Amino acid sequence: MTRRLTFAANWKMHHGPLAARAFIDRFLELVPPREGRELWVFPPAASLHVVADAARSRADVKPGAQNVYWEPKGAFTGELSVPIAREAGARGGLVGHSERRHVFGETDEDTRRKVLALLDGGLTPLLCVGEKLAERDEGRTEDVVLRQLRAGLGGLDPERVSRVMIAYEPVWAIGTGRNATPRDAAAVHAVIRAELGRLGATGRSTILYGGSVNLGNALSLLAEEELDGVLVGGASLEADAWAELVGIGA
Ligand code: PEP
Repeated sequence: MTRRLTFAANWKMHHGPLAARAFIDRFLELVPPREGRELWVFPPAASLHVVADAARSRADVKPGAQNVYWEPKGAFTGELSVPIAREAGARGGLVGHSERRHVFGETDEDTRRKVLALLDGGLTPLLCVGEKLAERDEGRTEDVVLRQLRAGLGGLDPERVSRVMIAYEPVWAIGTGRNATPRDAAAVHAVIRAELGRLGATGRSTILYGGSVNLGNALSLLAEEELDGVLVGGASLEADAWAELVGIGA
């Protein structure tokens, strides 16, 4: 059986509509659909519809929102609702990315509401969890990750828990050029997978690793069967390089 792998590109605050169009046209030209590979792209909100339109004929390419608000509509200036993200072509949304948590103060309770809103709106949440360096040094990685996981998935029934994707992204590895060793990453993934099982997940949940993944280290990370794919920031910004990365292991 082909091993299923998910590659997710988080463009953060890069690539407006024009650059997004050029990227996605080039990327689709370079990367044919491949059995068992799912390719998510999380562009800035203003570029979401461009990516969605360009990838309309590609079921393997899934656009997602980098962030959503939990209310479906109303007086919330500057926020992106799930229904609007969906209308723009989003199939899912990031929740609890470390920059949302640590730059914008997103709380565990916020992540729970966002996960719920995405599920209610028929979109797939990609819930990000991960410890800070001090927490790792204090031996609290598991505690932090499990707290974030239980909070983000709090009160969901097993069917809904099964629809959530998780990204394990140690905060100290994001955008820093440092990453967890494949073995360390796999160990945390195993802890997450066991907890998802306790929360009722059926089937194999998708758990991605993120944190300075690039062409030089992706293969050794993905050699760990615990990793179902990767969530990538910096190394996903250039179409040719990203095309090469999502084609590894061919
Ligand atoms: C991210 O934004 O989720 C990320 C992992 O970024 P980078 O690959 O640049 O560390």
